[in-house]
Amino acid sequence: MGRLKNDAIASEDRRREVMTLGDVIAAGHNIFCWCNRCGHNNEVDAQVLLARLGPAIPVPEIGPRMRCSGCQSKDVATRPAWPSKGQVAGHVGRGEENEDAREAS
Ligand SMILES: [Zn+2]
Repeated sequence: MGRLKNDAIASEDRRREVMTLGDVIAAGHNIFCWCNRCGHNNEVDAQVLLARLGPAIPVPEIGPRMRCSGCQSKDVATRPAWPSKGQVAGHVGRGEENEDAREAS
């Protein structure tokens, strides 16, 4: 009697919303890195990180394993490099390649 529900506490501690490196790669994105010390930022090829860290590492935990190429600080933040809204690039509309084949004549 009187058992503590440690299992429930442990499950609450898990954060489902944190993406892993594997998730980011599956979504087709790279990793965006930001140095908290000097503000240097860069987009890093996710495949390079995959080879070093594996797919299971949460994206926020990649930063502490990196080093800023500008000031050599390890105070680096990481997040998925979502495409910026201003950029119009990449593939749009899968399976609609033939849409332009329509002719008005
Ligand atoms: Zn830096």
